[in-house]
Amino acid sequence: SDRLFGGFRKTSERLTGNLAGIVGKARLDDAQLDDIEDALIMSDLGPRAAARIRERLAEERFERDADERAIMEVVAREIAEILRPVAKPLDVVAFPRPQVILVIGVNGSGKTTTIAKLAHLFQEQDYAVMLAAGDTFRAAAIGQLAVWAERLGVPIVKGPEGGDPASVVFDAVKAATDQGIDALIVDTAGRLQNKRELMDELAKIRRVLGRLNPEAPHDVVLVLDATNGQNALSQIEIFKEVAGVSGLIMTKLDGTARGGVLVAAAEQYGLPIHAIGVGEKIDDLRPFNPDLLARVIAG
Ligand code: GDP
Repeated sequence: SDRLFGGFRKTSERLTGNLAGIVGKARLDDAQLDDIEDALIMSDLGPRAAARIRERLAEERFERDADERAIMEVVAREIAEILRPVAKPLDVVAFPRPQVILVIGVNGSGKTTTIAKLAHLFQEQDYAVMLAAGDTFRAAAIGQLAVWAERLGVPIVKGPEGGDPASVVFDAVKAATDQGIDALIVDTAGRLQNKRELMDELAKIRRVLGRLNPEAPHDVVLVLDATNGQNALSQIEIFKEVAGVSGLIMTKLDGTARGGVLVAAAEQYGLPIHAIGVGEKIDDLRPFNPDLLARVIAG
């Protein structure tokens, strides 16, 4: 987990930096608690998590005067409490197979890379994986997914650029069923500029899937780029409305100072968080480990 610690260094330094100098008594006074709450918000943890941590600190009777270290320990404990309920790996459990996993998110969020990482993870668990190029709007997206499929040695179903995504998905489910595939991972368009169109497109994909298997899609995974900070949170709001979301994967948590947004997402939305992305390589998808994350975030 070196990469994890390295990745969160800036986030943790930012939090420590923001909290620096707020030294308290065995009982923190209101002004100090205000300062701490502000510092937590400035560190992207969001108003709700910040208020919750403030409350916990207010209850605390520190053995000695509360220094930065003592405060951080309480912060870490509370972050772990916030993260624990949302930790949920993406398991392949659907019966009948295949499990259909729709992957959504804005362009550039790391959607394609995350699909490849998930495919790799499932392969390591001995599952048969197939990809579907449901973002037919961008030729580059189809191409990039095909490159990953080839590299990983997994089958891919794609259509022509500008084709109907729902028809690609239809073909993919048929092929996956015929070939005994365990997990079918579907890429989708991420053009949030045209919300109405995207909504219609995703609704149509859902309709077609539902006709083939009432349980499908089994998962609708929203990919979020942590470097977008609070904007990542508004994307949750929008995609919940546009497509429905069953879980999250947050990417680019390596090297950003905005890792606190993971805590904000957990506290504000309570959606399952399946994994996190900590790099561009195929094995840079890490399990969402609340206690470890709390420790790396709170230094
Ligand atoms: P898409 O447009 O959403 O499909 O995004 P891509 O998968 O093409 O990713 C956009 C860029 O982000 C690419 O350069 C990826 O290598 C990079 N990327 C994706 N995930 C991560 C991550 O976890 N960390 C870092 N540092 N880069 C990432």
